[in-house]
Amino acid sequence: MTAVAIIGAGMAGLATAERLRAGGMSCVIFEKSRGMGGRMSTRRTGDLQFDHGAQYFTARGPDFVTQVARWREAGVVAEWAPGSHVGAPGMTAPARALASGHVCVTQAQVNGFTRTADGWTVLDDKGSIKAQGNGAYAAIVLAVPAPQAIPLAARAGADMPELAGARYAPCIALMLAFPADVDPVLPDWSRPDDAAIAWIAADFTKPGRPQAARTFVVHARPDWSRAHIDDQAEDLVAPLLARFRAVTGLTAEPAYASAHRWRYALVEQEIGLPCLFDAGARVGACGDWCLGPRVEAAWDSGCAMADTLLTALA
Ligand SMILES: Cc1cc2nc3c(=O)[nH]c(=O)nc-3n(C[C@H](O)[C@H](O)[C@H](O)COP(=O)(O)OP(=O)(O)OC[C@H]3O[C@@H](n4cnc5c(N)ncnc54)[C@H](O)[C@@H]3O)c2cc1C
Repeated sequence: MTAVAIIGAGMAGLATAERLRAGGMSCVIFEKSRGMGGRMSTRRTGDLQFDHGAQYFTARGPDFVTQVARWREAGVVAEWAPGSHVGAPGMTAPARALASGHVCVTQAQVNGFTRTADGWTVLDDKGSIKAQGNGAYAAIVLAVPAPQAIPLAARAGADMPELAGARYAPCIALMLAFPADVDPVLPDWSRPDDAAIAWIAADFTKPGRPQAARTFVVHARPDWSRAHIDDQAEDLVAPLLARFRAVTGLTAEPAYASAHRWRYALVEQEIGLPCLFDAGARVGACGDWCLGPRVEAAWDSGCAMADTLLTALA
């Protein structure tokens, strides 16, 4: 009974899975969405695509530097600017590469667990989820944002008070597409001095992106996002587009415009531990909220989670 159930197929959950595999331990990944990558996401609509979550990532520690080099060799990551890496052809590419060869149950929103002498069972709102080994998992890993891990940890009877210490800032992302000949030409990215907008990326300038349209991803500032996080997404397009026009001077009508609300976007307060593990309950938790607001932090936390399990379950 060595299989581990991992809840969440973002970078932390996938890093856990990959490191467990390297250590000879099997796992099953449960993910509520259709795809892999969590906040390393790509929105596709018709011929358009947008990285509306994580924009790029850096690699500082030797472990992640090695992993990024592997991804680059495999062609699923490329450099956008010196030291700034992106998935190619979209931000989800490294997550999809990591997931390959693992058992992933998608569109499975986990909301509880039961435990018997045989092991853990993972549940959704209809009961036990049909998945390889369900009912006999040796441990559970919650690889989801801390506020979403709190109720899951409670339902698993895990003692993890540290979860409450993590804080996230929300982020509202505006996706825009213009014809390829639109004026003026904007920089690849900018951080405008504006009360609403924190970041503008010319998404089409990232390696491997479609070139038929000029696509932009605009991120609102945390304060602005916090004030509007409960608004309807469609109501957020007009005010952010008005700020985008004011900031850039690009006044053409977009061929496509939509907004996405990230309730848990960037970690404002991490807990400062690599991961959590309740040995009695055999429940672990990991994610960017452990170490900081970066893809690399999620990777490091997932690796630490796997190392903890490989020792604890050996
Ligand atoms: C707008 C934005 C901009 C960002 N910019 C950058 C950047 O430029 N550089 C950088 O390094 N980082 C950036 N980040 C942060 C980076 O994306 C995250 O730190 C990292 O991807 C977090 O990975 P994770 O695995 O911890 O969590 P997530 O990616 O959130 O993964 C959690 C997964 O769990 C799934 N899940 C949640 N609940 C359940 C459930 N009950 N059942 C099943 N599945 C569930 C979710 O669907 C998700 O796939 C940005 C994030 C956002 C949102």
